[in-house]
Amino acid sequence: MLLATQPPLRMAPILGLTSDDFVASAQARGVAKTKALCQYRELFRQGSVSNEMTPTGILAVARSVADGQATKFILQANDGLELESVVLPIESRSGRQRCPLCVSSQIGCAMGCTFCETAQMGRLRHCLPEEIIAQWYTATHEIGATITNIVFMGMGEPMDNFDHVQKAIEILIDRNGPCIAPSRITVSTVGHIKGMARYTQLANTSGMGRLGLAVSLNAPNDMIRSQIMPLNKANNMASLHQAMQNWLVRRRRLLIEYVVIPNVNDQKEHAQEVAAYISDLPRTTVNVIPYNPRRNSPWPACSDQAASQFARWLGEQGNKVFVRRHRGRRLMAACGQLGKQPTKVTQIQSQ
Ligand code: SF4
Repeated sequence: MLLATQPPLRMAPILGLTSDDFVASAQARGVAKTKALCQYRELFRQGSVSNEMTPTGILAVARSVADGQATKFILQANDGLELESVVLPIESRSGRQRCPLCVSSQIGCAMGCTFCETAQMGRLRHCLPEEIIAQWYTATHEIGATITNIVFMGMGEPMDNFDHVQKAIEILIDRNGPCIAPSRITVSTVGHIKGMARYTQLANTSGMGRLGLAVSLNAPNDMIRSQIMPLNKANNMASLHQAMQNWLVRRRRLLIEYVVIPNVNDQKEHAQEVAAYISDLPRTTVNVIPYNPRRNSPWPACSDQAASQFARWLGEQGNKVFVRRHRGRRLMAACGQLGKQPTKVTQIQSQ
């Protein structure tokens, strides 16, 4: 179902400012601090823009589609490039309703994971902080979702655009802005070691201690991982293991994601290897994800049964494991399926 074609979002550059940044720039223009703060809160909380904001449009909602389980929307920047986001309402195991927003941090991606649609685009460019925040703003004020969590699991490798991701996190947690608790923000990486070190440092700073980290492991050993995730050749599993241990030093939690790809990484011995690899990583949960085929995929989709079997094998080794259900696959909004959308959106409209 096509939801809407929205008018341009005109306040995007302001979305790249924390309230402190905004107040400082407003004061430099002679605006009183209290008035500036009020404007900032109205923009983020009500989605209303005052006349004095002189916003410059850089983003427009190109399309949004929903299938009852997920809503995918596409923002178009004024350079014509598109970034994609997915709202995925879920019920937690405790029965609580949550509404995570999966945001993109880059347009395309340079990491080249062979199972991923976005990789087919290459990296076109980094998202600016305001483009990351515009995804939250659109989900909240255009789509009308009450976003409870932010997961950096859309297009791109967030650690490859760390400066802008860090700025976006500072804005997301701003009490005058989106006011999302750090514990509700998770950054996912394929194992970008330098970025992980910087993120760990960020999480060690005041107020950031409960940020979340997810690592896409997806393989039991370096041989398979280097085949499906080229980054592994330079950032191998030993260095990744060390980076995860560094993250865990301050009693933090870690989420490991494992996409089960038929005939690649789905055997019992693979599960045993993974279990051995993570056996000394405390407070770690494994999220087993059935593979969603990209276009021209050499591998078929992974069934829920095969993913559950893999999860059982991991669980037998004493690991905390859960299986992510297929969601958003029809919209090409599922994990690893974002990117190159125009033809796919047209197909969904005509169904
Ligand atoms: S899985 Fe993530 S890091 Fe790998 S190519 Fe896709 S978007 Fe990039």
